[in-house]
Amino acid sequence: MTTRDLSAAVVNYAPEKGAVELRDLERPLIGEDDVLLEVANVGVCGSDLHQWTADHSWQVNYPVVLGHEFGGHIVATGKNVKEWNEGDRVVSETAAIINPSNPLSRTGLYNLDPDRKGFGYGVNGAMTRYVRVPARCLHLVPENVPFEQACLTEPCCVAYNAVVGNSHIHPGDRVVVLGPGTIGILCAAVAKLCGAEVAIVGLENDKHRLNIAAQYGCDIVIGDASEWSGKRDGLGADFVIDAAGASVTLKIALQLVRPNGHITKVGWGPQPMGFSLDPLVQKNVTLQGSFSHNWPVWEKVIYLISSGKLDVKPIIGGIWPITEWKEAFEKMHRGEIVKSVLKPV
Ligand SMILES: [Zn+2]
Repeated sequence: MTTRDLSAAVVNYAPEKGAVELRDLERPLIGEDDVLLEVANVGVCGSDLHQWTADHSWQVNYPVVLGHEFGGHIVATGKNVKEWNEGDRVVSETAAIINPSNPLSRTGLYNLDPDRKGFGYGVNGAMTRYVRVPARCLHLVPENVPFEQACLTEPCCVAYNAVVGNSHIHPGDRVVVLGPGTIGILCAAVAKLCGAEVAIVGLENDKHRLNIAAQYGCDIVIGDASEWSGKRDGLGADFVIDAAGASVTLKIALQLVRPNGHITKVGWGPQPMGFSLDPLVQKNVTLQGSFSHNWPVWEKVIYLISSGKLDVKPIIGGIWPITEWKEAFEKMHRGEIVKSVLKPV
């Protein structure tokens, strides 16, 4: 093995807080149904930060290379891969391992297959130069979309599935989004595309991220959104999208939603709730979870990005070489920027 076969990788090596470091990784071997993708850019996700700070609520297969928001060029294809060629510009879905005979996979909902394992926690992710990707995960990226933007297709798909697939927002609906992280801002942006009137809610120290959200044409609320929610008829918001990473925000969502309204929870928080769900019953509210995305969502989102209808540029806070992963993680963790993007070295 020569040093040329080794690339720097951001590895999460143990379940303890802070157990992330740079390691040299051999170029992965690929199977017959895989491609080898040379990563151009990889986004840092809140879930990468959660694994770094060890407050995640999913099983991690340590040691694992972080990163599941990525795109790049195909540099090798497995024997059975006919529809992709070396040099193709692609982004990858996140469901690296699925059970194709699971009933959910058979109906196209492989994102909900209990055997699903994703990049960055189940198998090695993309915070390195080369990543092994099953060909079924790939989508073509139009030439006009640079990879710094294309790598954010994944969080856009999370938002699209939460707002369109799992919320059915209509033009004129009043929508409150809780949490001005990447997913919250993108949920607000997609809700605007659906024709809704949208407010995004954060705290005093979220001001910078809220100002970025304002670029998508939504209203900004710091603290209590009751007044905004009730502005039309006093009854509350048609939809509340909970994109904050804490369980307690569900309590706020239950206060803001109107009777017979709808709450979609897309943010994760492992804490127990410690409050009553009685308002859910009393207000006849629908509570909907939203997890991940599947093939048709990706095709729609790639169109929205390439046509300029969904602009991801405002959320990109900077691009760092992978060797400076820690600064990129810390800036995002402190809320100084919405999204860090890394570049392999
Ligand atoms: Zn993500």
